[in-house]
Amino acid sequence: MTTDLGAQNLTALLDSARQDYSELAGRGLKLDLTRGKPAADQLDLADELLTLPGSKTHKAADGTDTRNYGGLNGLLELRQIFAGLLQVPVGQLLAAGNSSLELMHDAFVQALLGQVPGAQSRWADQGPIKFLAPVPGYDRHFSICERFGIEMIPVPMTETGPDMDVVTRLVAEDASIKGIWCIPKYSNPTGTVYSDETVRQLAEMSTAAPDFRIFWDNAYSVHHLTDDRVEIADLLGLATAAGNADRVFVFGSTSKITFAGAGVGFFGASEANIKWWLAGLSKRSIGPDKVNQLRHATFLGSAEGVLAHMEKHRALIGPKFEATLRILNEQLGGTGLATWTEPQGGYFITLEVPEGTASDIVARAAEIGVVLTPAGATHPLGQDPTDSIIRVAPTFPTQTDLEAAVLALTTCVKLVGYEQKIK
Ligand code: PLP
Repeated sequence: MTTDLGAQNLTALLDSARQDYSELAGRGLKLDLTRGKPAADQLDLADELLTLPGSKTHKAADGTDTRNYGGLNGLLELRQIFAGLLQVPVGQLLAAGNSSLELMHDAFVQALLGQVPGAQSRWADQGPIKFLAPVPGYDRHFSICERFGIEMIPVPMTETGPDMDVVTRLVAEDASIKGIWCIPKYSNPTGTVYSDETVRQLAEMSTAAPDFRIFWDNAYSVHHLTDDRVEIADLLGLATAAGNADRVFVFGSTSKITFAGAGVGFFGASEANIKWWLAGLSKRSIGPDKVNQLRHATFLGSAEGVLAHMEKHRALIGPKFEATLRILNEQLGGTGLATWTEPQGGYFITLEVPEGTASDIVARAAEIGVVLTPAGATHPLGQDPTDSIIRVAPTFPTQTDLEAAVLALTTCVKLVGYEQKIK
């Protein structure tokens, strides 16, 4: 009896989803929820950079002429602003070009072709090597490994970071595992914040590989969406205290603080790693774009200046996250068809749908003009074995487009979800 009633209800729900869907199909939508990048009004916040450092202002605090070659470490005054925010001593933090992803790619190239401190040989000479890939994760991290033929071992994310039982077991027993990708704060795409215990374990765990590296991509260190400016434990400090200083590579950038295409990337690590990095870098470059670094130092002023600037971003994107969560809640709450993350910061919301439905939902959305990140993009090689994760990026569309796109997405979730239940 209950089953019959359930079936009747289900048919009605599916009919209603079908109606909504065909109504949306008739509207000729052209919406995009894929782009994890700042909207133009966010970029406008840093427009003063376009006139800085000013026509006669090219000297750094120590008198360096920023227009000239040199200064591989990057401008001290900018490194001083970001050292605390990225939890790296200023002497061990480098300011570089406009992208941290580029630095991560470089780190792989350097480790493959030049021997990292603690290694017995170059990674390229060690036979097949592997990397741990917490999932869901950031597709561009995985693409770097894929490019160099490095096998990725997926590790499930929990609410406190990667499943550390899995991580500690794998790294202790397999010396061909050379490292792990981590986005420790407001992770892409789940918004996860690593707990102090997770960070401590990463710093202290035994690794079979003497040349193990944690790629600590702190891309969202100051990208708060609430009054609670979440702090994480200091990985480099803890690893140093545990005698494992060399295992940490810290990355960060101002891409989502100032200009995504013309910001500054940072690399931080132990003294030995920095020495090694600079030795390689000196063959690649005669110095970074210090004029860009000077204008950033002038514009941001201090760590507090960075945080104050991030409040302006929050004022613009906070309402977009709120609207997305409100619509998800109104449309999908209580349906049993989806769960989603409620991030405290960062750029993404992860929507989890019933197993085997994510790619169909993405395809149905595309048919009515709503582009979503391909299902699977959050997993190594683009393959989500459960086909259940969809990444939502609310920052770039206008508020109106965003709301229309999320509503359409929820219609597709209902359509495919109820269809699956009825099958
Ligand atoms: N790391 C993460 C986790 C990201 O989400 C992104 C961009 O979305 C990047 C790095 C790219 O950083 P950058 O612009 O500094 O290369």
